[in-house]
Amino acid sequence: MITALLLVLQLGAPVYDRVILGGHVMDPASNLDAVRNIGLSGGRIAVITTEAIRGRDTVDAKGLVVAPGFIDLHAHGQTAETYRFYALDGVTTALELELGTADVAAWYREREGGTACRSATSRSAWR
Ligand SMILES: [Zn+2]
Repeated sequence: MITALLLVLQLGAPVYDRVILGGHVMDPASNLDAVRNIGLSGGRIAVITTEAIRGRDTVDAKGLVVAPGFIDLHAHGQTAETYRFYALDGVTTALELELGTADVAAWYREREGGTACRSATSRSAWR
């Protein structure tokens, strides 16, 4: 009877695109600093909860920290390979603001297809 009731309750629960389970969630914006489950739908966080949740894809984050992406304000490496490494380190935005580039429009055109993390640059004063 209890098993049937739990099954009925679980059938009505949402199924997220992806769930990240049991990670230590750290969010400076809300001061959340605790173990939680995260449900993602449409590429966005739909729920952060202590309740059990289900998803079409599951990431086991037990023993790991789950945090918003980091912004690197001093990122000279601006290639597809370095963007990939930044993303693996949790960097979601890599900014080249010190050296910049001589042709900002060309720099952005080269990245129109997308990169592993967001990037931006400034116009170089070096000529
Ligand atoms: Zn530098």
